[in-house]
Amino acid sequence: MGKTVLVTGGAGYIGSHTVLELVKAGFKAVVVDNLDNSSEVAVKRAAELAGDSGKNIDFHKIDLRDKEALDKLFASTAIEAVIHFAGLKAVGESVKKPLLYYDNNIIGTVNLLDVMRAHGCKKLVFSSSATVYGWPKEVPCTEESPLFAMNPYGRTKLFIEEICRDLCLSDPEWSIILLRYFNPVGAHPSGLIGEDPRGIPNNLMPFLQQVAVERMPALTVFGTDYSTKDGTGIRDYIHVVDLSVGHISALQKLLDGSELGCEVYNLGTGKGTSVLEMVAAFEKASGKKIHLVLAGRRPGDAETVYASIAKAEKELNWRAQFGIEEMCRDSWNWACKNPWGYESPDQS
Ligand code: NAD
Ligand code: UDP
Repeated sequence: MGKTVLVTGGAGYIGSHTVLELVKAGFKAVVVDNLDNSSEVAVKRAAELAGDSGKNIDFHKIDLRDKEALDKLFASTAIEAVIHFAGLKAVGESVKKPLLYYDNNIIGTVNLLDVMRAHGCKKLVFSSSATVYGWPKEVPCTEESPLFAMNPYGRTKLFIEEICRDLCLSDPEWSIILLRYFNPVGAHPSGLIGEDPRGIPNNLMPFLQQVAVERMPALTVFGTDYSTKDGTGIRDYIHVVDLSVGHISALQKLLDGSELGCEVYNLGTGKGTSVLEMVAAFEKASGKKIHLVLAGRRPGDAETVYASIAKAEKELNWRAQFGIEEMCRDSWNWACKNPWGYESPDQS
């Protein structure tokens, strides 16, 4: 039997894809999620996709702020390492409800780290974000670029990064990998699991998907006057399956045994794509016309953000395989099979 990895937020978008890759790689995945922004169906589908290995996925509905429940779980299961996805992630909501974000993301993480420490489990992969680069003065963003939080959500990521650094300094037995994701999009090629945000999507790809399945009338393009090739914002989109595989590489590095301390890696493709390029690629993949409303800049948005991927390539031996075409193909496949996400009528 492979090693057991706890995946917090494992019912969520990136978590469910990573749980699948974990059991495919021979690990046992214990999923903890409060289902605040997800459905248990995602975990069931990941198990279905894993075939025989699906039996190695175990789900627990637990909130990370419930320290007693976490403690019980660690007491009853030998957990080798933790991949920590659980958190709230809506930038706009974080501006309106900062205490909710500090409570959920930071208190939740501190609880998790303390329970891990108490049970001698000191290996962690944490979901950080390119948002910690703020409005970068120079691109590509390297792991050494200056850090700046533009909103409470970003601040939770920065604070948690610092907490992890302090922890590793306090005790050399800790090994923590901070993964700074760029813009995860796409879905598993089966179309069985994908991104299913609650309410009106904040991000470009889920919004595009909802326009294509006619849940939304048009995509608002935020800003057409940036100093970019076509005036729209540039981001580094990365296929969620590539991102998930990146977690397996990070985990393998943690389990190597060497004392790592706290390390940080960008996970992106190193390529920038504009909003209009993404719209064109999505129209091509879906055969649908996306109606656009050209609007002003969204407050707090950076102009151009993309990753330097050299460090992850060299030290994690990982590189993204998929391009924009596959990202749009798989996003559309998921959206047209599940126009209402996991609430869609059964497809079988
Ligand atoms: P998601 O909302 O789909 O997944 C997060 C999961 O965590 C959800 O299933 C939610 O129910 C769960 N959760 C939240 N608070 C919890 C708590 N207190 N206890 C237990 N479970 C809790 O989001 P995602 O896109 O899969 O993101 C995963 C992680 O990656 C998050 O930490 C997010 O901030 C980070 N991230 C995401 C992106 C992105 O664009 N998707 C980019 C950079 C970083
Ligand atoms: N964007 C847009 N319309 C939307 C959502 C996003 O034009 O409805 C733009 C946004 O301004 C940015 C890019 O798409 O230039 C990516 O935005 P997203 O919110 O997905 O990621 P982030 O800005 O957090 O990197």
